[in-house]
Amino acid sequence: MKIAGFQKLTLLDFPGKVACILFTQGCNFRCPYCQNSGLIGHENEELISEEEIFSYLNKRKGVLDGVVVSGGEPTVQPDLESFMKKIKDMGFLVKLDTNGSNPDLIEKLIKDGVVDYIAMDIKNVLPLYMNVASVKASVDKLKRSIEIIKSSSIDHEFRTTIIKNIHDIDKMKEICSYVGGDKMYLQNFEQSENVLGKNLESFSKEELIEISKIIKGNYPNVKVRGI
Ligand code: SF4
Repeated sequence: MKIAGFQKLTLLDFPGKVACILFTQGCNFRCPYCQNSGLIGHENEELISEEEIFSYLNKRKGVLDGVVVSGGEPTVQPDLESFMKKIKDMGFLVKLDTNGSNPDLIEKLIKDGVVDYIAMDIKNVLPLYMNVASVKASVDKLKRSIEIIKSSSIDHEFRTTIIKNIHDIDKMKEICSYVGGDKMYLQNFEQSENVLGKNLESFSKEELIEISKIIKGNYPNVKVRGI
């Protein structure tokens, strides 16, 4: 596993759990709003060894509930499943953050019982995915991932980072329609020095309140973050 970042404690990234979070190197998308743009490329000379991670986890048994595997895009790692299994075998819960581009692997991870929570990003309405992912993503694969996760019995959420220059209310509604009544978050884009798209704009608090009212009318399980 190419692990480029490791945060020893998070109370925010694994709902209801005390966890640590690790960030894998490499992603098959190029989202202009990526807050981890340093993890998009596949090379990094300062990787963290698996031994270091497992040594830390050994000392945190009974203290941490779980481990979040984030990225980059974890599913581009060829040994993701065996890595997650090792964590599960140590007694920790595992959450996977994914862009949903690899439904076969997502299905296998669920079937093999090595994942307890999945958070999948939905970047845009499916016909316009390229406008955000910046690569030609397979719409069929994305749809399949959404369906696999929705129909699974494991806890999950979908989320979309909303950007004023890209997502209008109609697009948000369409994205919400993909997940039906499942748990979904619209989260406001935040500009930062890591973000590649310097022209991207976030919504104001007033706009988010208005978006929330409109969306909630149709999709009560959708929450708008940032208000
Ligand atoms: S999929 Fe995630 S990690 Fe990859 S570029 Fe997009 S935001 Fe960044």
